[in-house]
Amino acid sequence: MCFADSSVSVELEEGNFVLEEYQCMECSSSFRGIGKKVRCPSCDSAKVKKV
Ligand SMILES: [Zn+2]
Repeated sequence: MCFADSSVSVELEEGNFVLEEYQCMECSSSFRGIGKKVRCPSCDSAKVKKV
């Protein structure tokens, strides 16, 4: 018989989907987005800044 010692190692791929906190400069609502071209989900403005 083959005795399988399964030690599970979970590797999370960090860095691929990093949600960053943004704040809209138009309506000042804060949200989280991915990527460089982040738009405000409320007013669709591209004037956002990282929080
Ligand atoms: Zn906005």
